[in-house]
Amino acid sequence: MNQAASLHNWSFWRRFKAVPKFQKFRYAMITLSCLAFLGPLAILPGLVGNNDLCGVLCMRRFYLYFPGMSMDDLWMHMSVAWIGTIFFFMILTVTFFYGRIWCGFICPVGGLSELVSRVLGPRWKIDYRPLPQVPIRYGYLATYILLMPMVGISACTLCNFITVPRLVTALTGGTAGVAFIFSTIGLANLSLLLMLGFFAEKGRAYCQFMCPIGAIDGLVNRAGAKLQMTHRIRVERSRCTGCNECAKACMTGSIKIVNGIAQVDQTSCMSCHDCVDHCEWNAIEWTTGPRNVQPKRIKKNIQIYPEPQWQAFPPAPMPAADPVRGVMVRQTLHYFTITAMLMFVLYATIQQL
Ligand code: SF4
Ligand code: SF4
Ligand code: SF4
Repeated sequence: MNQAASLHNWSFWRRFKAVPKFQKFRYAMITLSCLAFLGPLAILPGLVGNNDLCGVLCMRRFYLYFPGMSMDDLWMHMSVAWIGTIFFFMILTVTFFYGRIWCGFICPVGGLSELVSRVLGPRWKIDYRPLPQVPIRYGYLATYILLMPMVGISACTLCNFITVPRLVTALTGGTAGVAFIFSTIGLANLSLLLMLGFFAEKGRAYCQFMCPIGAIDGLVNRAGAKLQMTHRIRVERSRCTGCNECAKACMTGSIKIVNGIAQVDQTSCMSCHDCVDHCEWNAIEWTTGPRNVQPKRIKKNIQIYPEPQWQAFPPAPMPAADPVRGVMVRQTLHYFTITAMLMFVLYATIQQL
């Protein structure tokens, strides 16, 4: 082994040893999930005679809706993929009460990207996390749904739930996987997987910007966070020092420090607990809201509560957007929308050849 390789390995083990215990548990869960869902074992898809997450297991059939399609046709599409449809609604139900457990702990697609990205050294990474992910994600979702009927492309285009299983099949010698990876759709998807997955800082840029399941799951996560009874990543404002350690650790770029206090964007958070593991002040936690929201007493204008006030949202309205950031948001949104449209048009053109 040459010196460079040995240094890299040493740095890998040093980084691995520094990973908090709970995150090692999460990586183990994702690894087990990859073995269960992806080839060559693909144990769970194998139970229904599948090699991958398509067909009866597809969770994105709602993407096949075209304006003008009757409800019967839509229902027919959904019922073809009945296991995937039921599974999708189960994911949303769990998310409503406990946060995005599927995305953070189980999904073999986003999870594999994250694992590969974390193994690669920092010099390989592009950090997409500071980009304004909410407008890009929902702008992309709307573009896809609106553009799809115009250019006649299917929900399977640019779907990482095809790419990751078939890439694994290709790497383990499966000819179907190799054929897919060298097709037009396969190459486009592989590029996205590399750029927004493996070489993205923390490996979750595809999840942040393009995954329709993540986009809908994020809305459910935000809706559930309004209730005190649901488990969410919440901040105890009186303990938070604004040190930014949680934001640096966050794989989805969901935390911003506003007025010296950490704020969690509940449409993007995946409940991975990395922020909890990095906060030395015990100021952020995956927990329910306080049962008693009334202060016990008020002394010298300081409200004293009977228990920690874990909050999923800040009590005050968000401050007005800074104009420089607003311009950046608009420019980035335009850039991504135009890129997405060009990719679809290019693909549609190639399909017509
Ligand atoms: S956002 Fe999509 S790809 Fe990412 S973890 Fe969730 S379901 Fe998987
Ligand atoms: S939640 Fe903890 S880690 Fe994050 S800014 Fe506050 S004190 Fe720092
Ligand atoms: S806010 Fe915390 S739990 Fe949510 S994605 Fe970021 S690090 Fe994970």
